[in-house]
Order: sequence, then C-alpha cells, then structure tokens
Amino acid sequence: PLQFDPDIYGSLVAKWPNGKAPYGLLTRAFVLVNSTRSRIRIVDTLANLIRTLIRLDPDSLLDAVWLTTNDIGPSYETNELGLGGSIISKALTKTSGITPAALKKLYNKHGDPGDVAFEAKVKQIVLMLKKPTPLTIKNVYATITKIALTSGKGSQESKQRHVERLLVDAKGEEIRYLTRTLIQHLRIGAVKTTMLIALSRAFLLSAPDGAGWKCSEIPQDKEGRQEAFSKAEEILKQCFARRPNYNDIVPALLRGGIGVLQAECGMAIHVPLKPMLGSITRDLEDMMVKLQGRAFSCEFKYDGQRAQIHCDSDGKVSIFSRHLELMTSKYPDLVELVPKIRGDGVESFIMEGEVVAIDSQTGNIQPFQTLAGREKKNVEFRSISVHVCLFAFDLMYLNGEELLSKPFRERRELMKSMFIEIPRRFIWVKSLDATSADVDLVRGFFRSSLEARCEGIMVKVLDNKASQTLSPEEKEESMEEERVPVSKGKGKGKGKSKENEKEGGEKSEREKGGWRKALLATYEPDKRLESWLKVKKDYDSSADTLDLVPIAAWHGNGRKSKWWSPILLAVRNPDTGTFEAVCKCMSGFTDKYYAEMKEFYNDDESEENNINTSKSKKAYYETSLSPAVWFEPKEVWEIAFADITLSPTYSAAMGLVSEERGLSLRFPRFLRKRSDKSIEEASTPQFLADLYFKQEQGGKKKADIPEDEAEG
Ligand code: ATP
Repeated sequence: PLQFDPDIYGSLVAKWPNGKAPYGLLTRAFVLVNSTRSRIRIVDTLANLIRTLIRLDPDSLLDAVWLTTNDIGPSYETNELGLGGSIISKALTKTSGITPAALKKLYNKHGDPGDVAFEAKVKQIVLMLKKPTPLTIKNVYATITKIALTSGKGSQESKQRHVERLLVDAKGEEIRYLTRTLIQHLRIGAVKTTMLIALSRAFLLSAPDGAGWKCSEIPQDKEGRQEAFSKAEEILKQCFARRPNYNDIVPALLRGGIGVLQAECGMAIHVPLKPMLGSITRDLEDMMVKLQGRAFSCEFKYDGQRAQIHCDSDGKVSIFSRHLELMTSKYPDLVELVPKIRGDGVESFIMEGEVVAIDSQTGNIQPFQTLAGREKKNVEFRSISVHVCLFAFDLMYLNGEELLSKPFRERRELMKSMFIEIPRRFIWVKSLDATSADVDLVRGFFRSSLEARCEGIMVKVLDNKASQTLSPEEKEESMEEERVPVSKGKGKGKGKSKENEKEGGEKSEREKGGWRKALLATYEPDKRLESWLKVKKDYDSSADTLDLVPIAAWHGNGRKSKWWSPILLAVRNPDTGTFEAVCKCMSGFTDKYYAEMKEFYNDDESEENNINTSKSKKAYYETSLSPAVWFEPKEVWEIAFADITLSPTYSAAMGLVSEERGLSLRFPRFLRKRSDKSIEEASTPQFLADLYFKQEQGGKKKADIPEDEAEG
C-alpha cells in the first residue's frame, strides 16, 4: 500500500472511543487476512493496519502486534494462558445462555471453537451479565495478560471471570477471533513471518514528523521501490533474529523508524538470539562437493538439547533452548558450572553448545532418551540423577562485544582461549579441521562420531574467503557470486530444499545453475545456510524422521478398544496454514502413552465441555478419510518410517512430486512427542517432498505397497 489508506478501516476510525483503537479494527484486519491466500494482500492488509495505528493510536501498536502474532510476549517469558477447554466452554454457556449439550452439538458441527462461539452468541438468548463496553485493543491485550499471570489458588475461577467479561463485551467477528485468541490458535495464516514484513513496509512508508508521522518519500520507480522494501525487510528480520522481542522492536521503531533499529536493537544478554541452522546433505560426498576449496571443521553431532548460555557481568545466568524458551531451572548443574568455566577477563558472554546426558563415572555419552528423563523445570541440584555435560561449539558475544561477524575460526579460538574445560562437565565438541582433499580423514572421523553414539557430524566453514572480520559493506562484497562445481544427481525444480530457502537463506547452487553465493564463516542467526552442513547417519538406518501433527483418530479394536488407534498424522503447510494428512500411525506407542493421549485430548471428563475433539473435520484439514474423531492441532510427534511412497489416498505434498498423487509413509512409527516444537515447526510438505527426492536419488525405493496395507 503505497498510499496510506485508512479507508479499509475508515468507518471504524470515526468511532474510536477516547482515541483508543477498538478491537474491532484488529478483527476487521483478521477477516481481511483470512479472506485471501495472497501473501501480497496479507502484507498490504497488515501494513495498512500498522500505518493506521502509527498515525492514530501508536500506543496500541505493540498490543496489536502481540494479538496478531497470537502471543502474549516473547517465547522466553510466560506465554501460556492456562485456559483448559472447559473454562472456555463454561464461559460460553454462561454468557450466551446456550446449554452444554447444544454447545457440544455446535462443536461437532464446526470443529472450531471460534466458529462455535460466534454461532452460540448469535443465537444468544439475551442474558446480559452486565452492560457491554466496547472492547479496545489495549483492554483485550491487558485482560489476556492478566489471565496468563493469574496463578495459584482460585486462579481457574478468576481466569473464567476474565473470559466471561471479554465474551460479554465482544460482538460480531470479535467473538470468533477473541475465542481463537483464548485457545491460542488464531488461525489467520502464517502471520508470524508476515508481521515482520508488514512492520518493515509500514515504517518505511511512515516518517516521523515532529510529534506525529507523515508519509515518507520512497523511490517512485518499481525497481527502486522494491529495493527499498527489501532493504527494510532485511533490517527488520536481522534485528528480530538477534533480539526476538516485539517489546524492544516496536518501541524502537516508534521512536525513530527503521533507521534507528540496528543501533537500538542489537544482541542483549538474557535475550536469546535465534540459532543458526544447518542445511541437510545427502552424504559425505555431497558435503565435500559443496565445500570444495574451503577449509572446514567437522564436529561430532551430539544427540542432546541445544543450549544458549547467557551470563552477565554480575554472574547471573540464563539458559535458553533451541526454540528460545527459558530452561535455566532445568539445569541448575550448568548454572553452578558457569563461574568455573570463565577464564580470566571473562565478564559477560553468550555461548552455545549441546547438553548431553553422560555417565558421570565413565563420561560415556547416553542416548537422548536418558536426557528426556530429566524434569523440565525446577530441578533440585541435589536430587539430580541424570548427569549432563555441555559440549560447547560457539561463542557469540563476549564482554559487551557481538562476535557474529567474526569468522568461525576466530570465534572458536576466542572461546577456547577464554574458557576452561572441566572433564565430563564442560568440554569442546570433538572436531577435525579438514578440506575436501582429506577424504579418508573425514570418513574416519564420521565413523568415529557414530561409534561415540553421535548422530553424525556438523560441518562448518572456518574462514571468510577474503578477510577475517568484515564490515557490512565488505560482507556485501564478499557475498558476490562465485563459480562452484554443481553436485550431481540432485532433484530438479520441485525437489529443491525449502529448508535452504527459508528466511533469506542462500539459494543452492543447482537453482543458480552452477553459481552460488560465496560462503561466509559468520554466525547468521535464524538462517539455514550452506556454511553449516549436517551429515547424518546413512539413510538405511532411518536417520530421517518427520515431525508430524496428530489431527484425528479412529477408535481402537481388541486390546486397544479403550484408546484411539490408529492416529491420523499431517504435515503443516506454512503458506496456507492447512494440515495435509500423510499417514495413519499405529505403532511405537506404549499402553501408557495411549492412556495419556486420551487424557490429553479429553481434558474435561464431561464430553460437552471438551473442545479438543470434535466429530467434524476442520476446514483447514486436508484429507478424504473419515476418522471417528478430529483433534485440535496441539502437538508435534517425531515419526520414523521405512520409506515414502506416492499415494492415491493422501494428498500431502500434492503438486510437488506428482500432480495427481500425494505422499505417504510406509511403516510409520511413533518415536516421541516433541514438546520442544510448536505446531508451526512441524514438517512441511516441501520438506516431505525433499526427503522423497533424496530417497529416490539414493536408489532405495521400495516396492510401491499401499501405505495402509503395509502398516498391517
Ligand atoms: P534444525 O535444528 O536444523 O532445525 P533439528 O532440530 O531436526 O533441525 P538436527 O537436524 O538433528 O536438528 O540438527 C541440528 C541440531 O544438532 C542443532 O540444533 C543442535 O542441537 C545439534 N548439534 C549437535 N552437535 C552440534 C554441533 N557440533 N554443532 C551444532 N549443532 C549441533
């Protein structure tokens, strides 16, 4: 939206009570976002919303951003509302006058609590608990925050009262979206990434003007405009990757626009940065072709939990997970370790490593399951039975200085020279520096990683080609394309790795026809580049797994008659927000897990109040099957399988491999619940298609047995 266009919200703008933006403004934007699949229109809608708020009620902007991204705050702070389905159901029956039985009927009809609430209120028998007051963005966010912070005795009743008050005041579409906000599943497409783009556009197009804002001057020609948009977007994404907290980003933007962001929102101790990610490779050969001519470090790829350790100059320690959740209280033993590993001259730092369970007597690495046995929170130092070692692999910040733009070799040297190893508790990852010429050495190292119970190796480029430390301009220059050999046997077009494309990721060499960007050895938060490669165990040993979302189930037979089995699993399409069914799974579960599953989805014994299951398919589930019960998408499971087949039954990834058939899994087996992953992080259809291409190229295709028969 080049021209500021308050018209979309025009009729509402006139009626703002006390100058405060109404909640209806936000829900209007949600309705518009939901009415299209076009990413451009979604960005336009959100950018217009933001520009409206910048001009007319900047004070509500931050709250609007949180509500739109369906969070209360950053991932490392309290983000759970703690509202069971039953609280919402009870509040709905109370505020709409509908009976529990009628409400359950509506659940079965719609399958979506927001749609249910909308219809229940429309049918409302007038039953006013109090006179409704119009909702504003600010008071909705404030109440949601209160709900999240309410804990202890009587908290459920108090939460329910807050929910009731909100529902009484909500009208029309507000009811639908408010309810979805309360169940923390807003369902308006992939707004999390779109929000950053929309913010960058809105602030690029708005310039501070004394006390207020005006439209800013940007190039009028298409190319110039596009360049300005991309630059602003890159700055915002870069800042958010280093400081993923809108509470810092939005006020900085309101203070001085995009121009001040980099200076005001750099890395900060106790604010986790988004981790750099590794790209997948087929095997060692593939890796060596990709890194030909470069010096790299091969490191053991330990199977534990990634940890970002922050320590300030007062000695306060915070530990964050791969998904930026605070897990300090899970590892009091690591907290206790920090003063011991700090060498002379270390004041503050941010370091990264893998926490791995070990046998404290022998120092032997234990499997991931052992680590999974540790409590998630409030672990008592004295009662620790699962011992851990931190295998450190990177240093991103030291004594007030960001190290991200230094090459990996330098960061690693700094880490090793400034910190002190402690046997069996804090050690450097095992590594080997090599080049593509060292074939046998690398092979041997890879084998030794497997013998040490690791998953394979991580391979990291050691140096920037041109110089050691780069200024932003130098970095730009050295990112110029270089000619590299094209690795053979890749999938074509559709089989390309989406992983590598994500969020500013480099395009792989095959997409560029033999040209690629020069690889840098800098630490790039939130990027999946080819300067960090993963080489996992051979495909035959089922190293590849998928992170799938359970969406539905059938009632079990025989021994399993009390439970659900099989379970229908799906990949999540990040572009549309839909779930595409990929297989039924009935193996790998323990009886205990079956029972837990039943409890998890039936969080209220009285069927009427349960909104986690319904009898009708949700509009955003894609499958032609008819299971007995449909679930709310709530969790991610890691699933192993024998291979991927083309399927006439399942539509997952349809269009990526075949126009008529989707993909399915043979012999899917439940491995574990990934409580560290949210449903937004489930495997995508593109990832599934990539694995299919990888399998086909590896020549490991099995006979095309229909997936459901194969399950037996
Ligand atoms: P990703 O983290 O890449 O999205 P994922 O969660 O499925 O994917 P993997 O593909 O198994 O994880 O590999 C990456 C993970 O390996 C890292 O996030 C980290 O936890 C772990 N890891 C183990 N050893 C190392 C190492 N030496 N360097 C970097 N990461 C390592």
